[in-house]
Amino acid sequence: MIQLYIPLNFLGVIYREIKQGLTDLDKMFSLLEREREVADAPGAKPLAVHGATVRFERVRFAYDPAREILHEISFEIPAGKKVAVVGPSGSGKSTLARLLYRFYDVDEGRITIDGQDVRQVTQASLRRAIGIVPQDTVLFNDTVAYNIAYGQPGASREQIEAAASAAHIHDFIASTPKGYETMVGERGLKLSGGEKQRVAIARTLLKNPPILIFDEATSALDSSNERAIQGELEAAAQDKTVLVIAHRLSTVVDAHEILVMERGHIIERGNHQRLMEMGGRYAQMWRLQQAGGDPAPA
Ligand code: ATP
Repeated sequence: MIQLYIPLNFLGVIYREIKQGLTDLDKMFSLLEREREVADAPGAKPLAVHGATVRFERVRFAYDPAREILHEISFEIPAGKKVAVVGPSGSGKSTLARLLYRFYDVDEGRITIDGQDVRQVTQASLRRAIGIVPQDTVLFNDTVAYNIAYGQPGASREQIEAAASAAHIHDFIASTPKGYETMVGERGLKLSGGEKQRVAIARTLLKNPPILIFDEATSALDSSNERAIQGELEAAAQDKTVLVIAHRLSTVVDAHEILVMERGHIIERGNHQRLMEMGGRYAQMWRLQQAGGDPAPA
């Protein structure tokens, strides 16, 4: 009985996922994998947000116990402020974002939002409070309207169009024959990297969460596109608590604090001016980017 139950239940989960139209099978399985990693604590309460101050307190984390990725990371994003994380590929920047969203649980230390440990609140309330604009947006094989409203099933067409306008994707959508009913994804209209990111921004604007995570794209966008998207992100981030994983230092100069990461440690921290005065790794990265256009810091 048990043997029969487990596979059927598993298939049920997969069936629901396929029905939702996830475009990427690998991503589908990694989502299922993640869901098994964390669960609501018994008696978990909804997150109560009062301004949304985020704190990482002596956080340690390893995907594989043999290789620790984050070593005692502590920082705070005060309510309504922006903290930027920079550093070479593989230094652990995206892992910080994954832990805040609770794709995984920390091994030691804790992450709090307004003093509440993210492990003690319901996952649904945590994820309602956080909007993510990822490097690569996964679009569903469904309409543009569905993709923008994803996670907000009650959104009206007016709200969807307003979010699309603010993300500067409305005119493009309106120029397609079926407009907001155009199918996108593998079996529909293929969107460019920049267009997909705008859909993600529109989705986030519609969700209007108090905390935002931006994972800046490393490649693919031309610089006028990048500048336009940057402007849209800044508009979306007004008065919100923001964690930005930055690849272009020009986007972090106004951050409350910049964390320079290397191999899972914060090796320098401070605002732009302070880091420039220190004349260390950040100042070196800045000079390199100024000299060579806008490459990713490495
Ligand atoms: P990038 O700038 O290239 O996005 P990053 O600084 O964001 O890099 P992370 O994605 O946080 O780096 O990865 C940190 C380390 O953790 C890397 O060495 C990576 O190989 C490892 N890592 C990331 N995801 C996993 C995973 N799911 N399982 C095992 N190791 C992982």
